[in-house]
Amino acid sequence: MENQFDAIVIGSGISGGWAAKELCEKGLKTLVLERGRDVRHIKDYPTMTMNPWDFEHRGRMTKAFYQENPLITKAAGYGEDTAHFFIKDADHPYVQEKPFDWIRGYQVGGKSLIWGRACQRWSEYEFKAPEKYGYGIEWPINYNDIAPWYSHVEKFIGVCGNKDGIEAMPDGEFLPPFELNCVEEHMQATLKEHFPGRYLVQGRWAHLSKPEQVHLDQGRGKCQCRNLCMRGCPFGGYFSSNSSTLPWAEKTGNLTIRPFSVVHSIIYDEASGKASGVKVIDTNTKEEIVYNARIIFVNASALNSNLILLNSKSERFPNGLGNDHDLLGRYVSFHNYRAGAGGAIKGFEDHYYYGSRPSECIIANYRNLKEQDTDFVGGYTIFTGAYRNRAEEVPEDAPQLGADFKHRLSKPGDWRIYMYMQGETIPKPSNRVYLSEDKTDDWGIPLLVTDVGYDENDEKMVADFLEESQKMLEQMGCADLYSYDSKQAPGLDIHEMGGVRMGIDPKTSLLNEFNQMHQCKNVFVTDGACMTSTGNQSPSILYMALTARAANYAAEQFKNNVL
Ligand SMILES: Cc1cc2nc3c(=O)[nH]c(=O)nc-3n(C[C@H](O)[C@H](O)[C@H](O)COP(=O)(O)OP(=O)(O)OC[C@H]3O[C@@H](n4cnc5c(N)ncnc54)[C@H](O)[C@@H]3O)c2cc1C
Repeated sequence: MENQFDAIVIGSGISGGWAAKELCEKGLKTLVLERGRDVRHIKDYPTMTMNPWDFEHRGRMTKAFYQENPLITKAAGYGEDTAHFFIKDADHPYVQEKPFDWIRGYQVGGKSLIWGRACQRWSEYEFKAPEKYGYGIEWPINYNDIAPWYSHVEKFIGVCGNKDGIEAMPDGEFLPPFELNCVEEHMQATLKEHFPGRYLVQGRWAHLSKPEQVHLDQGRGKCQCRNLCMRGCPFGGYFSSNSSTLPWAEKTGNLTIRPFSVVHSIIYDEASGKASGVKVIDTNTKEEIVYNARIIFVNASALNSNLILLNSKSERFPNGLGNDHDLLGRYVSFHNYRAGAGGAIKGFEDHYYYGSRPSECIIANYRNLKEQDTDFVGGYTIFTGAYRNRAEEVPEDAPQLGADFKHRLSKPGDWRIYMYMQGETIPKPSNRVYLSEDKTDDWGIPLLVTDVGYDENDEKMVADFLEESQKMLEQMGCADLYSYDSKQAPGLDIHEMGGVRMGIDPKTSLLNEFNQMHQCKNVFVTDGACMTSTGNQSPSILYMALTARAANYAAEQFKNNVL
C-alpha cells in the first residue's frame, strides 16, 4: 500500500464519512483510518431480519455479560441484537476521575450505525447565547454561515420533518414527516392553547420517508417503520456512513479505507510548520506505520480526537498539537439527559396507531431565547410522545402459546405520555480530559482520563424541567403523573463535545471558523471536539455540516496550493 495520500481522515463514523465523501468528490486521494473492523452495508448486519424468538436470550445479554460490562450495557438501545456494534468494557479502558460513561462503537461506520437519528438544526439563539449571557466565548460562525451546509447535508442523507416555522428550531430541506398520533395531536393543541411560545412538533429524523433520486442513487430505499434501526437497516432507510457517505466516496475511485488502524498521533514537521502525516498502529499486528498527506481531518469522535491531539507531541508542541495555552482537552461538555416525566391519559381508547414509527415528537426549547428568563443559562429540548401499553402482562407461569396467550398480548391498554430533557451544559475549563501518565492501552497509547461533572446550572435546569413538565402534563389531562432525576453520569447522553473548541481568538480557542487548527493549518477537527458550546439540539447533523464546509474549504486550499 502506498503511504502518500492527498488527505487523511481519522475515523469513519458520522463526521469522518462526510469528510471522506467531500474530499473524494473534489478529487483528493483520501485515506480513511479506522481503528475497528470493517462493516459493509447489509452484508455485515447479522441481526437485521431476526425475529425476537431467533435470539438465544430473547434480546438480552447473560447475567455474566452484564457483570463484565456494567458500563457499555447502559447505552440506549444496547441488547443482544445490537451488542456487536458497541465495544466491550475491558477491551478499551479509560480512567474516570469523576464518573463518566463513555459509550463507543469502534468499527467502520462508528456510531452512525447505532445513533438515534435526531437531526434538528441549531438556531441563531444557540450560536449567540454563550457570549450574550456570559457563559462562553463567541462562535466564529453564525447560523447563516452554516445554513447552506445544513441544506447540503439534509438533501443527501434524507431528513424527514415538518416545516413548523419555529425560531428556536429552524426548518430545513425535509422529506415528508411521520404523523402524530391522536394523543400527540391533543398534546400539540393543549400547548398551543395554554402555553404560548411552546411548540410540540414531529422531530426531524434522518429517515427516508419518501426517497428522492439522490437516495436511490445511494442504493437506499424507503424506511419501513420497523424501528429496528440500530441493527443496521437492509433498506438503507436511515442514514449511516456505511449505507451512504462511505460507499459514495468509494465510487469516486479516490477512497482507501484501512480498518484495524489505530491512530497513535499526528506528526508535526518543524520545518514546514505543518503536519506531515500520522503514526498508525495496526491493531492486529501492532506494526507501526506512517502515512503522509497534505491535509489531515480528525474525526475520531470528540474524546478520541482530544486523545490523539494530546498525544501528538513534538518539540514545538510538547503538550499536544496546537496546545500553546493549555486549552486542549478543556471545556469538554455534554447534554444533560437526567430528567424525565410522564403519565396516563384517558379519552382515546377507541384509537390506535399502525407500525413502529422510528421517531419521537419534540417540544422545542422555550427557555432563555430572546432574553434570560430563568435563574439558569442555556435551554433544553424535550423529546416526547404518546403510546399505548399492553392491557395486561401475561404471567410467566401462564401458558406461553395458544389463542388465549395471543389475545392477552394483543389487547391494548392505557395511553401514556412520556417526556425527557436534552439540556445545554456550560463548557468550563475544569471539565476536561487529559492523558494518564502511567497507564497505556494494548497499543501503548496513554489512557484518557475524564474529569467531567455537572454544576449548579445543570441542577437548576433539571428542577425547571421537572416543574414545567408536570404543569404541561397536568394541563394535557394526565393522571398517574411521575417524574425522575436519574442522576446519571455525564457521557451516557452520548453527546460529548468540546476540548478543541472553535473561536475567533487563537488565545482562547484551538480552531478557526473553518475548523482549521490556528497553529497547524493543515489539520482540521470537525467532530464534536470542535464545539464551542453545546446548544440544546442533537449535535451530529451540525458535525456533518461543519465537516462538509471545512472539507470544501480544505479542498480549495489544496488545489490553490495554499495547503
Ligand atoms: C445510542 C445512541 C443514540 C444517539 N442518538 C443520536 C441522535 O439521535 N442524534 C444525534 O445527533 N446524535 C446521536 N448520537 C450521537 C452520535 O452517534 C455521535 O454524535 C456521532 O456518531 C459522532 O460522530 P463522530 O464522527 O464524531 O464519531 P463516531 O461516529 O463515533 O466515529 C468515530 C470513529 O473513529 C474511530 N476511531 C476512534 N479513535 C480512533 C483512532 N485513534 N484511530 C482510528 N480510528 C479511531 C471509531 O472507531 C469510530 O469509527 C447517538 C449515539 C448513540 C450511541
